[in-house]
Amino acid sequence: MTKFVYAFAEGNKDMRDLLGGKGANLAEMTNMNMPVPPGFTVTTDVCRQYLGNGSLPDELADQVSANLAEVEKAMGRKFGATQSPLLVSVRSGAPFSMPGMMETVLNVGLNDETVKGLAAMAGSDRFAWDSYRRLLQMFGKTVLDIDGDLFANPLHELQAAKGYKGDLDMTAEDLRGLADQFKQVILEQTGKPFPQDPREQLNMAIEAVFRSWNTERAQVYRRREHISETLGTAVNVQTMVFGNMGENSGTGVAFTRDPSTGRSGVYGDYLPDAQGEDVVSGIRNTLTLDDLAGINKPAYTELVDIMHRLEEHYRDLCDIEYTVENGKLWMLQTRVGKRTPAAAFRVATQLADEGLITEDEAVTRVTGEQLTSLLFPQFDQASHPEPITVATPASPGAASGEIVFSDAEAVRRAGEGAKVILVRRETNAEDLPGMVAAVGVLTARGGKTSHAAVVARGMGRTAVVGADELIVDEAAQTLKVCGGKEFHAGDIISIDGTSGEVFAGAVDVVDSPAMVYVESGLEAGLAAARSDDDKALVRSLDRILTRADKAARMKVRANADNPEDAQRAREFGATGVGLCRTEHMFLGERRPLVEHVILARTPEEQAEALSKLGPLQKSDFEGIFKAMDGLPVVVRLIDPPLHEFLPDLTQLTVEIAVKEAKGEEVTEHERAVFEAAKSRHEENPMLGLRGVRLSIEIPGFVDMQVRAVAEAAVARIQAGGDPHPEIMIPLIGSGREMEIVKTHAERVIADVEKESGIKLEIPVGNMIELPRAALVADEIAEQSQFFSFGTNDLTQTTWGFSRDDVEGEFIPTYIADGVFDTSPFESIDEHGVGQLVETAVARGRKANPDLLCGICGEHGGDPRSIHFFNRVGLDYVSCSPFRVPIARLEAGRATLMESLEASETK
Ligand code: PEP
Ligand code: MG
Repeated sequence: MTKFVYAFAEGNKDMRDLLGGKGANLAEMTNMNMPVPPGFTVTTDVCRQYLGNGSLPDELADQVSANLAEVEKAMGRKFGATQSPLLVSVRSGAPFSMPGMMETVLNVGLNDETVKGLAAMAGSDRFAWDSYRRLLQMFGKTVLDIDGDLFANPLHELQAAKGYKGDLDMTAEDLRGLADQFKQVILEQTGKPFPQDPREQLNMAIEAVFRSWNTERAQVYRRREHISETLGTAVNVQTMVFGNMGENSGTGVAFTRDPSTGRSGVYGDYLPDAQGEDVVSGIRNTLTLDDLAGINKPAYTELVDIMHRLEEHYRDLCDIEYTVENGKLWMLQTRVGKRTPAAAFRVATQLADEGLITEDEAVTRVTGEQLTSLLFPQFDQASHPEPITVATPASPGAASGEIVFSDAEAVRRAGEGAKVILVRRETNAEDLPGMVAAVGVLTARGGKTSHAAVVARGMGRTAVVGADELIVDEAAQTLKVCGGKEFHAGDIISIDGTSGEVFAGAVDVVDSPAMVYVESGLEAGLAAARSDDDKALVRSLDRILTRADKAARMKVRANADNPEDAQRAREFGATGVGLCRTEHMFLGERRPLVEHVILARTPEEQAEALSKLGPLQKSDFEGIFKAMDGLPVVVRLIDPPLHEFLPDLTQLTVEIAVKEAKGEEVTEHERAVFEAAKSRHEENPMLGLRGVRLSIEIPGFVDMQVRAVAEAAVARIQAGGDPHPEIMIPLIGSGREMEIVKTHAERVIADVEKESGIKLEIPVGNMIELPRAALVADEIAEQSQFFSFGTNDLTQTTWGFSRDDVEGEFIPTYIADGVFDTSPFESIDEHGVGQLVETAVARGRKANPDLLCGICGEHGGDPRSIHFFNRVGLDYVSCSPFRVPIARLEAGRATLMESLEASETK
């Protein structure tokens, strides 16, 4: 017979899959001889069966009866007895905490008879009737699906009619009257009376808790927290203890350390004469644990002792729920407690100092996401501003600035020294300079994976997106709040990318000391700290990051296209540049030069145009090599389709047509540009003439770019520097393509060596961003010195969709429908795209054992993806400068977690 029910004494903390978190921890505390009200857990297996076929297993009733009998024995009271009746609570408890998402029924076992027994036992009619009306209310709502207002309304009407201030003013008679009213509601709404049989109540309550796994809010929560739909919840049936039995009773929650600041020392509250739900609903102000010491010293001492034991046992910060019933302490719950990011870092190093965990474990106890939130500037909490709307928080941080409605205006005003918030209906690739110039981005459309969101996160720019209550009229230069205020260009607004709030006016922003630390080191971080808590946090951060760096197998490089970014990345701890996108260097005033390369009618004209670009490129590279002196810099040859450097075809067509219609002269140059734009027009440019295909079609680009790299290296060496450039070829799909361009590049490098008399070490490698490249990686590796996975394009080409098109369109639907749990552009699709990465690494290294493998797509800064890349043996990840500290932490964690897991399974 399958075991469906476990007495608390039969479980332990490692059985959370079967018993849920709450059940497993109640079992653990029971076995540690802590005062846990006796009870038992119905397993998650039963839930899965119930959700699968709609009925509970036949054997369940007998197993519940047997366990209930044991509880009765332990308590010396009987369920359903008219004297000293045993009552139970029925609570959900999933393998992962889902606070408040599922249902609970308290006081199960009360009926018209047992309520009298309870009154006699407690010496209080009021208490007994209050307990009964609570059962009727909860049972009616949760188990019988009756609209909660049908209970809440009579309660409020009664209090209003009698002029009561709150629940505590209600008399026994009032409560008895309410209980009668509630029974009537149940009869009217369901056509059946409230079940008087306690055992029937229990069965129905268990079933209702299982059912609550599938409430809408629980489903939404699981999706957001990446909790699998198939886990199911356990149900805990536990003897009721009462914190609302008078002055000598009470209830509270406590933490073994302060979960908000991470300060050591117990922390918690106590609410006399109350039940758990009263604490949560905040109907009265709570007292502190110190107050409890004054009220009931023995209970306080026992509680503190238990908290110490729990923390030593769980080796982590624990939170607990407890109740004092007539002076006696009972433990209702414990678990490893949630905490703020700051507390996570401090608690981890405290536990290491106290010898509860090792320094290595301390690193695994914090996450890149937690570090991320510590690095963004924050709004000053003290000012409590009122938001005008709340939308999707897309990229954390806090930014205040004047509204601008266009990319050009953002650049112009920022150039004049203004802080600007770029407000757009949505953003696209053309808004990039505006996003760079702005301190924050606010869009009316788009979700977490929209262009604005992805780009802003990559740059560390604060962003709030999908603010659909806002009407953005870019032409009229207005921003209207639905039915409310109107803002104009130049008005100040503030956006909080962590909460999604948008505020009118400026809200004070404070620098995070954590940011100062990662940028400028320990001393500066400590100097920026405004409190002892901040100082302690900076010290913890330093210890953990230092340890992570030492432990990490993978290196962390940065994606940087200019000396400033490279410098910044280096300050953040990058050990090189993993991707320098050279096309970014061809925008702005250099764009016409590229236009000339494309328009050239003869090789000479083309060479002439390229020769103008060469020196500019060389000085770009010199700056970057200087910033990264002694460290590798991967320079990627030109990648995007050529038409990106030409004016928009539709716009040109209109302009020329207008001129012709007006009889104005169309210049030869204008016609040439128009013809080029027409002939270079591609239906699917991302699958057209780009990447390595450009280097083969227009070899002049290879000459110019490789020469610029090599000459910049020579110049740095001559200046006493130590440059380590590498050349990378994008969008390779075959060994032959690689051979052609590599041979060409090597010839140029050899020429520069000859001309300068300086020996250069410039490895030539390629990006893997096409499925074919992954499949023929061995053939490519024979020609290549390194691979760098371009997981942005690899994700696009593997799934067969274009990021810019699908992000705003169906990715949100796909996430809602469970096709993805996260956007595959945010976190690597391990199962699909990941296989190609794994295959390419294996095949590549087989053909070329010295092949260095890295990744430079967006995923290089994503914590979850970094663990995957560590598992498949990459040598480094490269990410935007801002994400370097996060990647360092996660790379260290990945190595440490692997070795801790390996030692555990030994
Ligand atoms: C990539 O495709 O992952 C990549 C890094 O190249 P880009 O994003 O410039 O296409
Ligand atoms: Mg790419």
